[in-house]
Amino acid sequence: MLSQGRRMERPVVIHKVASDLRLSPNWVDYEAGRRVDVWADARHALQGLPGGGLNLGFEAVDRQAAGALRDHVALRFVARNAPPLDLRYFELAQQTNRFANVLRSLGVGKGDHLFVLAGRIPELYVAVLGALKNGSVVTPLFSAFGPEPIAARIQLGAGRVLVTTDALYQRKVKQIRAQTPTLVHVLLVAEDGGITNEPDTLDLGTLMASASDTFSTVETQPDDPALLHFTSGTTGTPKGALHVHEAVVTHFATGRYALDLHPQDRYWCTADPGWVTGTSYGIIAPLLQGVTSLIDREEFDAERWYTLLEQERISVWYTAPTAIRMLMKAGTELAQRHSHPDLRFIASVGEPLNPEAVWWGQEALGLPIHDNWWQTETGGIMIANTPAFDIKPGSMGRPLPGIDACIVEHLEAEGEPARVRVIEEANVEGELALKRGWPSMFRAYLNNEARYRKCFAGELYLTGDLAKRDADGYYWFVGRADDVIKSAGHLIGPFEVESVLMEHPAVAEAGVIGKPDPVVGEVVKAFVSLKDGYQAGETLRLDISAHARRRLGAAVAPKEIVFLPTLPRTRSGKIMRRLLKARELGLPEGDTSTLEGGAWTK
Ligand code: AMP
Repeated sequence: MLSQGRRMERPVVIHKVASDLRLSPNWVDYEAGRRVDVWADARHALQGLPGGGLNLGFEAVDRQAAGALRDHVALRFVARNAPPLDLRYFELAQQTNRFANVLRSLGVGKGDHLFVLAGRIPELYVAVLGALKNGSVVTPLFSAFGPEPIAARIQLGAGRVLVTTDALYQRKVKQIRAQTPTLVHVLLVAEDGGITNEPDTLDLGTLMASASDTFSTVETQPDDPALLHFTSGTTGTPKGALHVHEAVVTHFATGRYALDLHPQDRYWCTADPGWVTGTSYGIIAPLLQGVTSLIDREEFDAERWYTLLEQERISVWYTAPTAIRMLMKAGTELAQRHSHPDLRFIASVGEPLNPEAVWWGQEALGLPIHDNWWQTETGGIMIANTPAFDIKPGSMGRPLPGIDACIVEHLEAEGEPARVRVIEEANVEGELALKRGWPSMFRAYLNNEARYRKCFAGELYLTGDLAKRDADGYYWFVGRADDVIKSAGHLIGPFEVESVLMEHPAVAEAGVIGKPDPVVGEVVKAFVSLKDGYQAGETLRLDISAHARRRLGAAVAPKEIVFLPTLPRTRSGKIMRRLLKARELGLPEGDTSTLEGGAWTK
C-alpha cells in the first residue's frame, strides 16, 4: 500500500541531469543535436581502410590499436571459476589478425559465411572481429539454441565455417553435420585449454598458434555484407537480416549519443552476442568508442551482478527489462548493500520498460534507466532516452540524430507494395515506421527478396511494431503487429516451435502463443491436439516437453503445454493464434468470421 501511495506522487517526467558531473554528455541539447549531420561526423571520425573502403573489424580494433589506446584494455572477461582475462587493443588486433590468417589459410574469404556457436569466451570475440577483417560474413549464434535452430540457421546462411567449443560440438552440432552440407570447416575451441582431435574438425588453438599476427584487412566496401543476424517471423524459417560494413557508422554514432560512451568508461553490456544487441553493443560500438568492455561469462545472478557493477567500477551499463525485473524481485535492499559510485548511465532495450522499473533504478541505483528501442533489422539504436532530454518513464524516448520516425496507418489490409498514411496527430496508435537510409539498415532478408520488399512503403521502413507518439515527440510502445513472441528479450517465432512439436509422433497440430509473464515479458505456451490413439496426460505432456527442449533448446521450447481436442483454424487452414491468445487471456475474441465452422470447442 505504501509503495502504491508513493507511486501516485511520482511526476511524469524525470528531468535531465548531466549524466556525470565529471564528464559532459556527448549530447546535451535535443534540438541542436538533431540538426547535426551525425552520419557525416561519424564517417569523418572513422578512418577507412588504407587503400579505400570501410571495414567494421578494422575500425573497431586496428584503428584503436594504432593510436593512443594501444595499451588500453579493450575487453575484460570475467568468470566464476577463472581469473579475469584482459585483452588490450593491440592484443585484440594481433589475435584477430591470427584468426583472419587462419581463415585465409583455409581458403575462406570475402563473402563466405562464418558462424560462431559459443558462450561468451574470448575466442568468440576474436572470431567475429577477425572474420570481419577477412571480409567474411559473420553470425554469432546463441549457445542455448538446440540442434534444430542451429541447423536451420546454418542452412539458411549457407554457413561455410563454424567456430564452436568441443562440448557444444558433441551436444549439438555433431548430430546435424549431415543436415549442413555447406559446412566445410568446423573449428573447435578446447575449453580445457588442451587440443581437440575430433574427426572432421580442426583444433582452433593449434591453427592460431601457427598463424601470423599481422594481417592487412581485406578491402571491403561500405555496402559489402558483414553480419547476418537471424530474427523470428510468424511463419516459415527464421529470417536472416543482412547488414553491411557501413553499419559501423551507426554503431559509432549511437555509442556516442544513445549510450553516451566516453573512452574513459568501463562499460558492461549484458546481452549475449547471439542476439543483435550483444553484437552491435556487446562487441562493436564499445570498441569504436575506445572503452573497456566487461564480458561476464556467467548467467544472471543478482548478487553477482551488483558485485560486478561495484568491483569492476562499471560506469555505463546496458541491460534488458527482464534482467531489471529480476533484480527488482531480488529487492532494493540487495542493491543498496553495494555502492556504485562510478555508475553514471544505465540503458535498457528489448522489451517495454515499465515506468516502475525506471523509478526502481532511481531508488536502488541512484539513476533512472534509459529505455531505448531498435530491432535486428535496424542494426542499431533508433529511438532512445538520452542525457539530452527529460525522461518520461514508460516511453522509449525520442528519435536519435539522423533518424526520422513516424506513426503510420495502412490504407489497405494486404496490398503490395504497402500503402500507408503518416499520422500527424499526436497520441494516435499506428505502426512505427522509419525513413529509410540510416547506415545500419538491413539490406536484405537472405534469399527472401519478396519479404524484404514487404517491409517498405516508399521511403518508409515498416517496423512491425505498434506505437504512439505524444505531442512532445516521445514514442510509446503499444505492442507487436504480429504473433511473434518476446521472451526474456528474445524473439521467438511460433512457427519454428510449432514445427518441432509436430515432429512428435503423438502431436496432430500445434499452436504457440506468448503468454504474458511478469518477469520475462512472455513465456512460450503451446496448445496441441493429439492424433487418434494417443491419450492426453502428464506422461505424454512431459515427453512432448522433453522432445521440444532437446530439439529447440531451453530458451525456445514451450514452458507450458496444454492439450485441446482441436485447434481453431481459419478456413484457409491457418491456426488462429490470436484466438488462442484471446481465450488464454479472457479477452474478446474479435473477428472470428474466418474461423473454420465448428472446428473448435473450448
Ligand atoms: P529483436 O529484433 O530481437 O531485437 O527484437 C526487436 C523487437 O523487440 C522490436 O521490434 C520490439 O517489438 C521489441 N523491442 C525492442 N526494444 C523495445 C523497447 N524499448 N520497448 C518495447 N519493445 C521493444
